[in-house]
Amino acid sequence: MTSTPAYWNHELETLPWSEVEQWQATQIASALPALRQRSGLYADLHAHLPDVLPMRDLRDLQVLPFTLKSDLRAAQDASTAAAPLGRNQAVATDSLVQCISSSGTTGQPLYYGLTAADVERFTDAIANTWFTAGLRPDDVVAHLVGLPMVAGGLPYADGFRRVGATLCWLGGFPTDRILREMRRLRVSALLSTTSFGLYLAEQWEEVGRQTGIASALRLVMGGGEPGLNQPEIRTRIRQGLGISSLRETMGLGDVLSSMWSECEAEDGMHFNAQRYVAVELIDPETGEQKPWTEGATGELVYTAFARDATPVARYRSRDHALVTGTRCACGRTSPRIRCIGRTDDMLIYKGMNVFPAAIRDLITLRFPGQVTPNLRLWKTHAAQVRFDDPIAVDVEASGRLSAEQSQVLARAAHSTDGGQ
Ligand SMILES: [Zn+2]
Repeated sequence: MTSTPAYWNHELETLPWSEVEQWQATQIASALPALRQRSGLYADLHAHLPDVLPMRDLRDLQVLPFTLKSDLRAAQDASTAAAPLGRNQAVATDSLVQCISSSGTTGQPLYYGLTAADVERFTDAIANTWFTAGLRPDDVVAHLVGLPMVAGGLPYADGFRRVGATLCWLGGFPTDRILREMRRLRVSALLSTTSFGLYLAEQWEEVGRQTGIASALRLVMGGGEPGLNQPEIRTRIRQGLGISSLRETMGLGDVLSSMWSECEAEDGMHFNAQRYVAVELIDPETGEQKPWTEGATGELVYTAFARDATPVARYRSRDHALVTGTRCACGRTSPRIRCIGRTDDMLIYKGMNVFPAAIRDLITLRFPGQVTPNLRLWKTHAAQVRFDDPIAVDVEASGRLSAEQSQVLARAAHSTDGGQ
């Protein structure tokens, strides 16, 4: 019998975090001069910097300007026949082997390129997150993303196969077929959004009755949206599906499709892309770097120091994180975080920062099974962030309620929150 290794990358995952950051700083120092030569975007952004920068640790990164999504967008808008990805295409087109699309939920989609070496890096880092989440070669894993071109499409599939799990790419089939095939193929693991996980938890028993096949499901990896930071939501998914492991994961199409995952402690996500990407925590207001201390909050900023095709340096993710710990019983040394929302989505209600996901979680928990996780917040104008009056919210009743039940629910929802 061979023993299963505990880590995907034993050395980097267990090295003291300060030493990981020092190693990353040396990688960044050697990558920076070429970055300006290869990328038109960074020729502009880094034009004012000296040729040689001291890079002793990641604190020295602060001499570099941030890269914003708007910078990437403007660089892409300058695309040409020779460089279809625009001014941040840092290799010739004949070296590109794949193009990835960001989800495009805010504005036009952005496209990223991969060389063969980039694909290898992506696959290794993504496999590292699935392995940390508990995926193993004997798992049969359902891939529920329907579009191969998005960040969670083909790159995730490559990662599942790299771990050695049996990939069942069910995404794209109608939902009822997905559910039936998951039973028939004895799927033991899947990656799901929080809302689909909740939906699945409600349907799974019924699918078992219809197919007469016992569930083999043991692991759900959650990603794509916040919500798994709520213990009640975790309990509902865990109990509804009868699973032993529920692990949150997170990535960013602009940088690397999956970079974070919870371990068996299930108490915040470890950073698993340290071999290719450096991550900083900053104060979104001042831009100042913040130390990784338990309880700290801030925006995540990424530097992909081993990226050929469309590199990013100090890229502001707009993802807002809470540090849940810097030590872990699993032995991994990277900080652990929860994503508490998108900086772009943040609202200010009577001076308090509120993320829409928190409002959604409150409503879905108060009316379990009666409402869907879809809701709409009403603003007086599209750019409104600050609310001093109650925020109007439309809630969607789940399809199984009768008209009468819906009316009772509407009255209850209105009175519970004082109409807010
Ligand atoms: Zn851990």
